[in-house]
Amino acid sequence: MDKVYEGKAKIVYRTEDPDKYILYFKDTATAFDATKKAQIVGKGELNNTISSLIFDMLEKKGIKTHFIRKLSQREMLVWRAKRFDVEVVVRNITAGSLCKRLGIEEGRLLHKPLVEFFYKNDTLHDPLLCYEHILLLELLKEEQVSVLKKTALEVNEILKDFFKERGLLFVDFKLEFGELPDGKIAIVDEISPDTCRLWDAKTGEKLDKDRFRFDLGDLIEGYKKVLERIQTL
Ligand code: UDP
Repeated sequence: MDKVYEGKAKIVYRTEDPDKYILYFKDTATAFDATKKAQIVGKGELNNTISSLIFDMLEKKGIKTHFIRKLSQREMLVWRAKRFDVEVVVRNITAGSLCKRLGIEEGRLLHKPLVEFFYKNDTLHDPLLCYEHILLLELLKEEQVSVLKKTALEVNEILKDFFKERGLLFVDFKLEFGELPDGKIAIVDEISPDTCRLWDAKTGEKLDKDRFRFDLGDLIEGYKKVLERIQTL
């Protein structure tokens, strides 16, 4: 197949339809600016399955995504999108870079969800962006910033409830957005335990990529638990 782009966790391929691409989920895991790297057999399949289920659920609730359908264990058919160089992070509970940056402890429940923007730029190590930075760099127009923030908060409410019903705490997550061939803004990339923090509501067990980041236990075991919970109900 004709490769459009290869990232750390996925490969994008062209299809016969110029408006549709195939996402191929690899088994590669990376963390800390890709300084930590490993092959974890089965991760690609799990992320494709989990992401497909979540995108399908969001689409049914009226959230526009690039998802068309799951093609195979490792492949997802998506709409071609012009991706924005901005990552949107929403947080419900303190963790990760927020704790490091502000010197606060992990696990504090936030009174209201916190939205942050990061610059998707490897050379600069994906720095935090304030509103004016986004406009200065012309990464997004003012109206687009509003659309992304509003959509990210909507998705947060949907997923927070979805995971809560399944005994999981939705700590934080990252979304990427792009413009589809029809000009509409949509969520692109993936929504999986690679891009979300999910904790068991009863035991506090971490079931996401932090298992790999901090050697907390078998990553596949955690992701499988997430999938099992998602598949029920
Ligand atoms: N995240 C991601 N890709 C990135 C950076 C962050 O998917 O390049 C996700 C991460 O898994 C977590 C959330 O976004 O669910 C917030 O991440 P944070 O800013 O705390 O950075 P981290 O310390 O995880 O690198």
